[in-house]
Amino acid sequence: MPQSAEKILDHAPLFQEPEYQEMLARKAQAEGRPSPARVREIADWTKSWDYREKNFARQSLTINPAKACQPLGAVFAAAGFEKTLSFVQGSQGCVAYYRSHLARHFKEPVSAVSSSMTEDAAVFGGTQNLVDGLANAYALYGPKMIAVSTTCMAEVIGDDVQAYILFARSKGSIPEDFPAPFAHTPAFVGSHVVGYDNMLKGILDYFWKGQTRVAGSALNIIPGFDGLAVGNNRELKRMLDLMEVEYTLLSDVSDQFDMPSDGEFCMYDGGTTLEQTKAALNAKATLSLQEYCTTKTLESAAGLGHGTASFHYPLGVVATDALLMKISELSGKPIPAALELERGRLVDAMADSQSWLHGKTYAIYGDPDFVYGMARLVMETGGEPRHCLATNGNKAWEAQMAELFASSPFGQNCKAWGGKDLWHLRSLLATEPVGLLIGNSYGKYLERDLQIPLIRLMFPIFDRHHHHRFPLWGYQGGLRVLVTLLDKIFDKPDGETNKLGVTDYSYDLTR
Ligand code: SF4
Repeated sequence: MPQSAEKILDHAPLFQEPEYQEMLARKAQAEGRPSPARVREIADWTKSWDYREKNFARQSLTINPAKACQPLGAVFAAAGFEKTLSFVQGSQGCVAYYRSHLARHFKEPVSAVSSSMTEDAAVFGGTQNLVDGLANAYALYGPKMIAVSTTCMAEVIGDDVQAYILFARSKGSIPEDFPAPFAHTPAFVGSHVVGYDNMLKGILDYFWKGQTRVAGSALNIIPGFDGLAVGNNRELKRMLDLMEVEYTLLSDVSDQFDMPSDGEFCMYDGGTTLEQTKAALNAKATLSLQEYCTTKTLESAAGLGHGTASFHYPLGVVATDALLMKISELSGKPIPAALELERGRLVDAMADSQSWLHGKTYAIYGDPDFVYGMARLVMETGGEPRHCLATNGNKAWEAQMAELFASSPFGQNCKAWGGKDLWHLRSLLATEPVGLLIGNSYGKYLERDLQIPLIRLMFPIFDRHHHHRFPLWGYQGGLRVLVTLLDKIFDKPDGETNKLGVTDYSYDLTR
């Protein structure tokens, strides 16, 4: 026996043991698998231009999409409000997926409940599931708000969540005045960024609808769906506090997804308070840091009289400048010398490393705003973001990207691919290779297959720890991105000059 109670092996070394190797060989034989040479031959062909054309002609199949489904975004948005529990009308397995996906990234327990719909609810509707589920969630978990979203199943059968919540209130599941906003989040359209938008709008509608707005001077700021939110939101708040701006962050997950260990399990921490959320109706303007996460929310805020502005994930010098100048213009507060100093330091750092950054080529994939922001930063460093891919990017996004590329000499050979998946990206990288790949943990298979170093900078990052605790936004965040790119760039010459007496004749300690 390769393992026992005294010697428990992880699956990786376990499957190297002779018993498992023999079993795997027998399995391959029983399945009649092609020879390794034939597998290699086909694998190589899938890296050709011939295969690329076939791959890009595919229409009815998605392979490894760089996106998640709507309710995951809804659960994320709800987590940014004070003592708010997500309640998902649908099947249990879906909610287990959102919770595990978020928990694996943030390394924190993530609370969300489902109405556990099964076959009977699929046939007769999920009313009773919601009535019972809300009563249980309210009694067991002591939330101040329950945010209801839906899975595919509830949407396919047409559950009317608004009517069900009213019915549940009448049955006493939750008190009449207990906040229970909702959003329909059909997972078969859009992605997690649309789900974020729908849930945020649902929460704001709950507090704002029917109220009279008295315009004030404060600003609402929406961070958007962001795996780096713990670091980014704190950095954003630091900059706003330095500017002495009056603001409300709408959906702030930075404390909920970064709780200290003090011996007590705490289900809720931080977030935008319900009082702040109500009062945010009176803001002068609502700003979104991720346009594609807030299309409907911003439209609704504009309809209520708010000034609105949106950005694409503020990475680097130009983007941070634009964000701070807009905030300064709207709030009337000047940009303080401390932030100007940080800006100067980032510019200096970029200039110091210019000879290593200039002309580097990149592929970037992820959410539309992240890809836009990262491509802009890469061009700022003198790099070329050759392939930019967002599975949840649309034609409008492609046009915005084309405009961005046209604004810089470094964008001349670059192209944006909306609606494409990571199998498309494999073809792009195999036929037109680049130096570096920027994305999330799913890129590790591309890295292994095509030997293009992967830089993990967006959600989800499962196989590295604690990246979400450090900001990418602002000038300080820009420095962090810069260092991350440079570390990967320096790994290459070090790796190529480390053979004693063969390639190490000018092994460089200073670079
Ligand atoms: S795509 Fe549908 S079935 Fe899959 S996790 Fe999302 S809601 Fe559930």
